[in-house]
Amino acid sequence: MIVAKAVKDLQLDRSKRIGFVPTMGAFHEGHLCLMRTSVAENDLTVVSLFVNPTQFGKGEDFEKYPRDLDRDLELAKSVGVDILFTPDTHEMYPRDEATRVVVPAISERWDGQFRPGHFDGVATIVCKLFNIIRPSVAYFGWKDLQQCLVIIAMVEDLNLPTELSFQDTIRESDGLARSSRNVYLSKEERSVAPLIYQELLALKANLSQEQDPRGKVESAAKKLTSAGFHIDYLALVDMNTLAPIDVPHGKCALIFAGRIGATRLIDNIRL
Ligand code: AMP
Repeated sequence: MIVAKAVKDLQLDRSKRIGFVPTMGAFHEGHLCLMRTSVAENDLTVVSLFVNPTQFGKGEDFEKYPRDLDRDLELAKSVGVDILFTPDTHEMYPRDEATRVVVPAISERWDGQFRPGHFDGVATIVCKLFNIIRPSVAYFGWKDLQQCLVIIAMVEDLNLPTELSFQDTIRESDGLARSSRNVYLSKEERSVAPLIYQELLALKANLSQEQDPRGKVESAAKKLTSAGFHIDYLALVDMNTLAPIDVPHGKCALIFAGRIGATRLIDNIRL
């Protein structure tokens, strides 16, 4: 596996089909599954590892975001990644006032309300990485549902020639969605965290038979709150627009974001 720190070190053979997995590192099974899929489906797999400062708000966890390059390097190598791109901030943002990519509407909902500017940072870095790597296909996880929709809109709006592939959420055996942030959880918080998925599953099972699904969503939110969560949102939404809906129809999803202690977790389940 080649480790490239600078754009100029990326000598990509463009006659090959290139699969790309953008990440912020601290690899877990969710990342590794994306990488394995790319390795299986392409001639060349490039993974980027960059903790992108522009997608963190003030007071968020940019400084303390888990970083372990040596471990990540070994893991990426073990699943057959060809190139690990590990630029530093100056390499990605050489100018202070850089051009930004903003995907309107979808970026403003839900996490956009609680993390203003977050999706502008995401869209900008993904667009830059697409232009640097020019992948045939890029892989993302449904765990970050809103992020997936932002990327879909950006690729469509800007006519980017990259195919997108999405993977289901990889979970711990007790249902907690894998996340680099799970390492922040205390033992006690970790034992409560699987309740998110349990409540999402119970809601999914109940919603279709309910006269008043809103009542069900509210009581699930109450349960999570009593267990110690500070909920940002728990909602039934249209899968394509993330607009809130009252009754499940067509493609929809239940989405959750909330804090347990100091750790913010997100999860969702598609219906
Ligand atoms: P991150 O390093 O958190 O930016 O994530 C890099 C990619 O891995 C994104 O496309 C995420 O959606 C995806 N990802 C993160 N966690 C999971 C998970 N538990 N299951 C599937 N994909 C995931």
